[in-house]
Amino acid sequence: MPTLEAIIGLEVHAQMNTKTKMFCGCDNDAFGKEPNTTVCEICMGHPGTLPVPNKESIIKAVKMSLALKCTVNKNSHFDRKHYFYPDLPSGFQISQYDFPLASKGKVHYDVAGKEMVCGITRLHMENDAGKLTHRGSVTLCDYNRAGTPLMEIVTEPDLRSADEAVAFAEELRRMLIAVNASEADMFKGMMRFDASISLREKGTTKLNPRSEIKNLNSFKALERALQYEEARLRKSWDETGGPLKRDITVGWLDDDGKTRMLREKETADDYRYFPEPDIPPLLIDEKMLLQIQPEPVVLPRERKKHYLAMGLNDAEAATLIDQPEMRALFDAVYAKTDDAKRTSSLILTQLMGFLNAHGKTAADAPSVNAMLDLVIAIDDGTISGNAGKTVLEKMVTTGKSPKDIIAAEGMGQISDDSKIEAFVKEAIAKNPKAIEDYKSGKQAALGAIVGYVMKQSKGQANPGKVNEILLKHL
Ligand code: ZN
Ligand code: MN
Repeated sequence: MPTLEAIIGLEVHAQMNTKTKMFCGCDNDAFGKEPNTTVCEICMGHPGTLPVPNKESIIKAVKMSLALKCTVNKNSHFDRKHYFYPDLPSGFQISQYDFPLASKGKVHYDVAGKEMVCGITRLHMENDAGKLTHRGSVTLCDYNRAGTPLMEIVTEPDLRSADEAVAFAEELRRMLIAVNASEADMFKGMMRFDASISLREKGTTKLNPRSEIKNLNSFKALERALQYEEARLRKSWDETGGPLKRDITVGWLDDDGKTRMLREKETADDYRYFPEPDIPPLLIDEKMLLQIQPEPVVLPRERKKHYLAMGLNDAEAATLIDQPEMRALFDAVYAKTDDAKRTSSLILTQLMGFLNAHGKTAADAPSVNAMLDLVIAIDDGTISGNAGKTVLEKMVTTGKSPKDIIAAEGMGQISDDSKIEAFVKEAIAKNPKAIEDYKSGKQAALGAIVGYVMKQSKGQANPGKVNEILLKHL
């Protein structure tokens, strides 16, 4: 038997996080809205309406193209891609066919600590279709999503395993979020994959007919579907002595853990592409590129290296890359404290721990200013580091500012000499044994006295002052 290798390429559809839809002024955020309420004549495909490209979506697509190290083509245009489906009211999708927005890029990503590269064939823009819900023999149509701006990112067949495909897709998701082109929320279907896979004998270069797995909605589905299809193609190679005879399209049945033959793959001819007559060509020159992206994009992998160099571990750096809200807080606190360890403990351990414990998400995290106020309160001695934890937890549960919490709870550290002196005198009177030990040379005995003061003051006495005043009295 020859040694076979899997050849995998992806097509990724990512919804853009623009205010309005691709070709009309409808609200692009349909999440949680009543069906068919964010629609108009244009996205419903009424005859005689004119689509107008959304400038914000073109800017976001250009930013993503540059992050992918693609060439943004000076001259691209939109085409009509014809097919009939109930979720596509106009009977065609406005996409880009032979002159896409951007081409020929590459993405660096890591698999198990090893650096890999995947070529990017193209990035083009198009509009999303509506959503169909099947209820028994009835199908319900919701057109809120119809017209949502999409980027379709097509890779070269550079991936060799399900693991590589998933690692690449995860890196791509980080990049979408980093350039703010998409929220890339997998649960809301904002990032969807079509994965093509074929086999060939190792050492050969010819691409054999492939199986395209349609519409995978999660990294897990992408991984499982590719693993299943690779095993199936290997078995079929064993039985037939070779690759597939022609391209096929299959669907992934998540519950059964299987793919299912949908059809022989359609070719470009089937779509009857022609240039969209209602939209002029898109001309983007160097000057416009510089306006859109004046500085080179900072990619998530570069950011990660920066955090690792600071002394954070891999998991901590990964959290900061994947969670922009935590990163903003981390960067602000680090800028103030210049202490990566302390910042990491405050943001990644304490804050994230409290958010988790109280069933909250990063979106519920305190503002940058509130976090800085907390750091200041600790640093200027208003509260102790320990009390800081309590304040932080209350910030998470109540959403109040540290100042309000400290005032309301009477948590301010006691630094008033006369108050501390009273505590110290009491401690000395109540702990004759410790005093004796100290006087006979046991330095450690002092700890018991300080501990007593801290306990009596409910942890609010300023420990520095306690030591200072105690020594005076001995
Ligand atoms: Zn509309
Ligand atoms: Mn597409």
